Amino acid sequence: METMLLLKAYLKKLRLPTMAADVEKLAAEAARTNLPYERYLLTLVEQEVLQREQNTLRLRLKKAAFPVLKTLETFDFTAIPSISKPEVLRLAQSEWVRQSQNVLVAGNPGTGKTHVAIALGIAACRQGFRVRFFTAAGLVTALAEAQAEHRLSRLTRILERTDLAIVDELGYVSLPAEGPRLLFDFFSRRYERRSVLVTTNLDFSRWPEVFGGDEMMTGALVDRLTHHCTVLTLNGESYRFRESQRAAAAPPAPLRLPSAEADRPVREAQAAANP
Ligand code: ADP
Ligand code: MG
Repeated sequence: METMLLLKAYLKKLRLPTMAADVEKLAAEAARTNLPYERYLLTLVEQEVLQREQNTLRLRLKKAAFPVLKTLETFDFTAIPSISKPEVLRLAQSEWVRQSQNVLVAGNPGTGKTHVAIALGIAACRQGFRVRFFTAAGLVTALAEAQAEHRLSRLTRILERTDLAIVDELGYVSLPAEGPRLLFDFFSRRYERRSVLVTTNLDFSRWPEVFGGDEMMTGALVDRLTHHCTVLTLNGESYRFRESQRAAAAPPAPLRLPSAEADRPVREAQAAANP
């Protein structure tokens, strides 16, 4: 008993809380099943490692500040034939993040750009990369505020520590006066050093409008952004719109009251399985 108390105290001191929590139960189990010493220790250590990995991922996802969590498992590729599923799955392996390359997701509103961006961001988190999600407007606001408060270089240093910056909805909003220059600097700093994933509903031909009509600066930016870049074009009808049409067209679902009759098939199947 005293041994167990001491063991737990030492494990806590060594900052191995999961081992401390599991040690007693696993020791009893190991004694009961005659588990070899090293197998017992392995199981105990594995729990600690697993728990730590889960905690790290949870923290990474929190820091990424995704507006919602969406993954590729819930993405219907048949709805958007303009992108190749194998290519997106390849991007989900995050080799492009390791190589500081970029992804550009272009397409009409509602075609799943943000969904794909978040899914690739989560995939990168799972591979151990530091990710940060911004809307273009949110990023510009953060940069402009930092500049006004003389802490732009500090924010820049923080942002440089992220392996992947997602900039969502470039082009939807008009930017404040200093916005174009701040965005241009942001992208320039990351060029060939850190990845960006940009989603946009605008053709490149219209990007100068986002960047205050400055064709030269826009040209230089598009050049850097697309130099090592995979472009995904999501063309088609809005998924949102299609879903709402489908819901409207479907006959109303019959009202089901919980009755003895309603679940008879289930009961019959259960009875057949357990005679
Ligand atoms: P966009 O950013 O292009 O405007 P979103 O990614 O916000 O579009 O998609 C709109 C909604 O439709 C979201 O809830 C998204 O999860 C869903 N959606 C879009 N495309 C698909 C798809 N192919 N499969 C599953 N859900 C989709
Ligand atoms: Mg979007």
